[in-house]
Amino acid sequence: MAWTSMHFAVGMMGGGVAASLGSLILRRGVRWIPIGMTLGGVWALIPDLPRIWREDFTWLPGATFLGQKSLEQKLHAWGDIFFLHAKLDAQPHEFALHGLALVIGMYTLSSIGMMWYVKRQNNRLIKEMKALEQVALWRDRSKELSHRQHRTPDNHTDKKAG
Ligand SMILES: [Zn+2]
Repeated sequence: MAWTSMHFAVGMMGGGVAASLGSLILRRGVRWIPIGMTLGGVWALIPDLPRIWREDFTWLPGATFLGQKSLEQKLHAWGDIFFLHAKLDAQPHEFALHGLALVIGMYTLSSIGMMWYVKRQNNRLIKEMKALEQVALWRDRSKELSHRQHRTPDNHTDKKAG
């Protein structure tokens, strides 16, 4: 019987792997990986939701329907599609602290990853802006040069006139 924290942690891993693969294949969407991890964690908890509604959220509208024991049993019968929920429930350890540590560790890693990703994007933008600035400078300079070339004959005529 694993604790909620362990189910969530295993779901986070599954969701994180799925979201990472998706962003690798699509070559975009890296910033959605933490959201994918959270969704995976919630998905892994689904079989336990009826119990949570029945025991902790009895005041919620629909709690009597959503908290049905038969629904809980049905969801547990499909257990393994919820990131190995049934296998985790079948083994004897609770893994409550392991689960919590894994969840905190994974969210910390994903924020470090996001910080790195944002920094890399910023550096790329700064490089592009510098390149554009350079092009604008060259354009100004060549405009100035062609302006000067056009002006030279005038100077000559001025001198002749003077
Ligand atoms: Zn369960």
